[in-house]
Amino acid sequence: VHEAFHWLWKAKSVPKIKVFGWFLLVDRLNTRNMLSRRHYNIGTNLDCLLCGEHVEETLEHLFFHCTFSTRCWLK
Ligand SMILES: [Zn+2]
Repeated sequence: VHEAFHWLWKAKSVPKIKVFGWFLLVDRLNTRNMLSRRHYNIGTNLDCLLCGEHVEETLEHLFFHCTFSTRCWLK
């Protein structure tokens, strides 16, 4: 088990934040990329809806590269 999981479950935060972090670590958040991989009927457009750039909505994009998310993190 990766050290991040131990850190996550021992963190002093409310359970919903821990569960969200767990979903993030195990790639279970419902990004458009993940929904497409699971054959959900979301069409062929996998672009990020937050920033409007023509970039596929993945976990990495949402948390590290999305201009909208970046602005939210900085506030
Ligand atoms: Zn984006």
